[in-house]
Amino acid sequence: MKIFIDGQYYDEENAKISVFDHGLLYGDGIFEGIRAYNGRVFKLKEHIDRLFHSAKALLLTIPMSHAEIMKAVVDTCRENNLRDAYVRLIVTRGVGTLGLNPNRCKKPSVIVIAGTIQLYPQEMYDNGMEIVTVPTTRNLHNAVNPAIKSLNYLNNILAKIEANIAGVEEAIMLNSDGYVAECTGDNIFIVRGNELLTPPLSAGALYGITRAVVMEMAREGGMQVSEPNLTRYDLFIADECFLTGTGAELIPVRKIDGRVIGSGKPGPKTGSLVEKYRALTQTSGDAIF
Ligand code: PMP
Repeated sequence: MKIFIDGQYYDEENAKISVFDHGLLYGDGIFEGIRAYNGRVFKLKEHIDRLFHSAKALLLTIPMSHAEIMKAVVDTCRENNLRDAYVRLIVTRGVGTLGLNPNRCKKPSVIVIAGTIQLYPQEMYDNGMEIVTVPTTRNLHNAVNPAIKSLNYLNNILAKIEANIAGVEEAIMLNSDGYVAECTGDNIFIVRGNELLTPPLSAGALYGITRAVVMEMAREGGMQVSEPNLTRYDLFIADECFLTGTGAELIPVRKIDGRVIGSGKPGPKTGSLVEKYRALTQTSGDAIF
């Protein structure tokens, strides 16, 4: 595997960063998870836009242009001869001192790792997954804003640990007002009749790129799409529920906090969106080869 670090490719054993990098010392940095299908990088521009927005919020100056970062992602897939890939793009604050002042960091580092990912077992895609609500709430907007895809994911990791303790793979996180925000690494949707509902970004949801694609596909398919505040009760009485994310794609949910959702099996609207999403990923994106 060839890994891109600051304009050079390194073998896995030599792909290293300093122990003084503030990405390691303080989680001071940002990232993106991007997917390539069938020789094309899916929604690359949208991911790089979000990366630059995260950087702006953290006053982190990415030492490469938008176009250069896009090229680095495509080139790293090509360098590794990958037609299908999961790409992790990271920008750290860079090497600094042991104090937390980011002004001591001379230059942010850009890292691109192109590999593969299988987040959940196939069985869950076929039959739906079971999830639970956990005690750890989503970050407040006036703390590290939950829209920032920062290297500091401990809040979500805590929620994931709580899900694991409960014997499931994913957790619903509520915000401090008790409304549903999203899951630890995925956005959440429910189907109610011909309506598709997902929490608004103001509830603490990440501006998910898969979320945006699914909302557009549903609108095109004649569904009514809206973003109201949702409670756990709304989830329990939904006809269908599914999660979205670059890594997870679309995954049906069959049980929430012990309540069976709808028929307890992946529903028809979910099934149709899964198929449309698959078809789209196979045919659109920035060409690698
Ligand atoms: N929420 C969180 C907290 C995430 O980390 C992610 C990305 N894994 C998502 C939602 C899904 O976003 P996207 O569809 O852009 O991958």
